Amino acid sequence: MVVAAVAVGAFATAGAGQALQPAAGNNVQLANRTDGTATFDGTGGDTASAPRLLTTSRKTASEGAVEAAKLLRSQQIMTRREAAEAEQKRPKFARPAVGDFTSAYGARWGRAHLGIDIAGPIGTPILAAADGVVKDAGPISGFGQWVRLVHPDGTITVYGHVDSYNVRVGQRVQAGQQIARMGNRGESTGPHLHFEVWNPDGQKINPLSWLNDRGVTV
Ligand SMILES: [Zn+2]
Repeated sequence: MVVAAVAVGAFATAGAGQALQPAAGNNVQLANRTDGTATFDGTGGDTASAPRLLTTSRKTASEGAVEAAKLLRSQQIMTRREAAEAEQKRPKFARPAVGDFTSAYGARWGRAHLGIDIAGPIGTPILAAADGVVKDAGPISGFGQWVRLVHPDGTITVYGHVDSYNVRVGQRVQAGQQIARMGNRGESTGPHLHFEVWNPDGQKINPLSWLNDRGVTV
């Protein structure tokens, strides 16, 4: 009888509050083995009371499913909230390359230099200065190869002389995402990034001012 109580006790736990009624419940069958010891034989049985436990189990399972769904929903809300917070915190502008500022925007050698130059070793990562979509990525005269990004307000940023690029036209990029590597292609006298900013009217404006106004120093 001790064995039966333990066995039913196990069921009571599993069945979440099932009364300890070994005689009436008939959920547990005691079998006499040949050695004479009573052993727990498992669930079920062919009496009417047997399915009751199954019914209870099913109900508990559906309650569990409701709890699980609630938990999943709250986790999804948390995930969305965290994603929104991360999106808000994420820098929206970035320095296009780390290196030496070698040439400003303006007149240079009697010619207008309508961008800024940042010099560094070939292969130095070139990053998107702002969120945008790739407008061009490929060969172009003068710059050898370039990447151009168009930004939500219509501003275009230009990355010239790149050794290679890792984006394709139409691709969406985020500020700070690597788009290319510094190179020495085209009309260039040493590895550097030539960076331009075209305002929504198509005018090549001072990229340094544009970056500085957006909290980025070069
Ligand atoms: Zn330049």
